[in-house]
Amino acid sequence: MKTLIEPFRIKSVEPLRLTTRDEREALIRAADYNVFLLRARDVIIDLLTDSGTGAMSAAQWAGIMRGDESYAGSDSFYRFEESVRDIFGFRNVIPTHQGRAAERILFSTLCGPGDVVPNNTHFDTTRANIEHTGAEALDLPCPESSDLAAQGPFKGNIDLEALEATIRERGAEHVPLVVVTITNNSGGGQPVSMANLRGASEICHEHGIPLYIDACRFAENAYFIRKREEGYAHRSYLEIAREMFSLADGCTMSAKKDGLANIGGFLATNDDELAREERDLLILTEGFPTYGGLAGRDLEAIAIGLREVLEPDYLEYRIGSTGYLGRHIAEAGVPIVQPPGGHAIYIDAAAFCPHIAPLEFPGIALTVALYRAAGIRSVEIGSVMFGHRDPDTGEPQPARQELVRLAIPRRVYTQSHIDYVVEAILDVWERREELPGYRITDAPEVLRHFSARFAPLA
Ligand SMILES: *Cc1c(COP(=O)(O)O)cnc(C)c1O
Repeated sequence: MKTLIEPFRIKSVEPLRLTTRDEREALIRAADYNVFLLRARDVIIDLLTDSGTGAMSAAQWAGIMRGDESYAGSDSFYRFEESVRDIFGFRNVIPTHQGRAAERILFSTLCGPGDVVPNNTHFDTTRANIEHTGAEALDLPCPESSDLAAQGPFKGNIDLEALEATIRERGAEHVPLVVVTITNNSGGGQPVSMANLRGASEICHEHGIPLYIDACRFAENAYFIRKREEGYAHRSYLEIAREMFSLADGCTMSAKKDGLANIGGFLATNDDELAREERDLLILTEGFPTYGGLAGRDLEAIAIGLREVLEPDYLEYRIGSTGYLGRHIAEAGVPIVQPPGGHAIYIDAAAFCPHIAPLEFPGIALTVALYRAAGIRSVEIGSVMFGHRDPDTGEPQPARQELVRLAIPRRVYTQSHIDYVVEAILDVWERREELPGYRITDAPEVLRHFSARFAPLA
């Protein structure tokens, strides 16, 4: 059979409000052309993020009812801890309300001014939490990743030569840890190979530096290893996951991604002394170590979600659906980051709209056009999000890339929704020369993409 079917049927539905093009025209103008300022009820297909937007299974909803809300020592915590230990293999499991809380606790315990933390590519909250301690967050993506259109099985890898060189130059005592993000979210959702993780692990351990995995999309990464790396075709996803984490000393996780939950996260480590310090900080801002800012029911949903996310039928559908979207628009000529990643398709907006200069925001032009055409919400990852001012001249500088991300929520949209998205993108592609550039009319200094206001250029 060629048709990709969802490996689930639908028990409960959430109606979509179908808007007209005229309504959307007024709504996007009222939102000053920033899709973050739209109300969710005015969006038909919401591809803003895959974080916390997934659908839970019947088993997870049953777990919600079973949640033990005891302040200390709840059964739900022990089921959560057992799931995490079984898959990730770390002794100390510290629940947090989401991934960034795990990051804050980890980095504020290990890092300080003068330190550098290398990563294949830091996610924005990871970078912000490292920089908040006074340390430097250094991206070391592999060289293949800079050619967006090139194919390659593991374009999410960390550059091992650059890692080794950084440690030698800066001194191991100034590298409190190394992080590898799987899959590489900011680098197009591209996977990291087992060989690359093993290489990073060897370099770190030779210098006595702990290796951490930012594990948000660990199951999607395991899928790519099974399909693309020699020697893994006959291994289960669980075995692959265990092998990945056996190479590391700890991990941070946002359960809003491959935890298949709407909230939650954790920090895990084999270092008992460090875990004690981390738990002290946890109590200060998150909560007692057996709930860490989550309700018992949330822990229960995560414990179940972590197992469901490794099911082969789920992963075939998940990665298949993202790949289907990518292939169908790329075949029509739409420039995307190749090959399609696990959780999202990234359109190269600079190549899509070559008539719009980077500082006239081709990514905003495309997000607005997709909303207007079909009520689809996507997100600009370009000069609005990552543009900066030249420290000497104060002149605005563009980002390295102008991308638009279409992130696919887990188990939420069906094949016909994806077909609708393909149709909408191709419609905008046909009319791409008509898209105007934009200027900023109002924006805060930091994290401006959330609240900036725009106007189209004449
Ligand atoms: C989402 C994400 C985080 C942060 O997790 P939150 O739950 O949003 O706080 C960290 N790293 C990566 C790679 C992510 O995708």
